[in-house]
Amino acid sequence: MEPNCSLPPELLREIISFHIFQNITLVDTKHVGSSKPSWQLFSSLSLASKILRTLVLEAWFATLCVRRSEDLLDKFMPFPEIKTWTREIHFMQWTEDSRSWSLEGFTRVKKIRIDCSKTDIVPPKFLSGLVISNDIEVEIRNLYWPSPLVAQCISRMFPKLKVLRLRQARTWCGLCHTCCVPEFHHPVPKSIRYEDGTGLPAHYALAFSSLAHLETIHIMVGILESGKTTLGSGKGQNPNLWSGECDRCMEIMYEDETFKREWVAKKQNVTVKPPMLSTVEWSFLPKEEFESSVLSDDDEEEEDA
Ligand SMILES: [Zn+2]
Repeated sequence: MEPNCSLPPELLREIISFHIFQNITLVDTKHVGSSKPSWQLFSSLSLASKILRTLVLEAWFATLCVRRSEDLLDKFMPFPEIKTWTREIHFMQWTEDSRSWSLEGFTRVKKIRIDCSKTDIVPPKFLSGLVISNDIEVEIRNLYWPSPLVAQCISRMFPKLKVLRLRQARTWCGLCHTCCVPEFHHPVPKSIRYEDGTGLPAHYALAFSSLAHLETIHIMVGILESGKTTLGSGKGQNPNLWSGECDRCMEIMYEDETFKREWVAKKQNVTVKPPMLSTVEWSFLPKEEFESSVLSDDDEEEEDA
């Protein structure tokens, strides 16, 4: 007999979502692998009653982890409602083939996460056929060579992108036009934040300028603390408005005070950028810590559909 459950479904849904959210927070410290906690944490709850089972499954499939194109097809889904339950799709290893995968029917998706292969040494090929037109948050991890070319691809693929999160070992230096591991003199703050739409390498700002809905960009990068230049974090610090420049360029080119003044003024008065962009936040992790989290495998190959 079905146990008598006196709590309304909406409240139960909130409790279950909170339970999942707490466990996802723990899982999220890894840069790779499933973004879902173990099903074992929920299986007993799902057996308690029919309504709890439905609500647990709905919450569980709010995030859909995808490894193969088949994972997105109706005929391979264990429940027909999954496409309407899913709010986030996590592509666990993006490959060239992934470009042709079908997202048809996922009408309520609010977030896409793409994990690039850690062995890729060329920029991943997003796009062509696949264009997501909803207002959406996108997270891309482990871009090996995050050049402005990749930023252009992201812009084409997600024309209504609202929030962008990047986690990568390198970033783009707008002075020498290469990707580099940021390097500073110790100590380095955990993050720096811009609230006026500045803070991006100019080439990124240009590449993202067509994104009329883009409001927020978070970039997490691995860093070295063996550099020559200091990056402040408190009020009145970060005087050079660091925006991805490599240590070598700053060391050499900032020697010229006139150049430095003009370069910083140019960053402060950037005109070509996403029109709605306000927040640009950079978070820093020591390079070893960043790399070990990428390499720490991971993937309990369990029921993490
Ligand atoms: Zn440079």
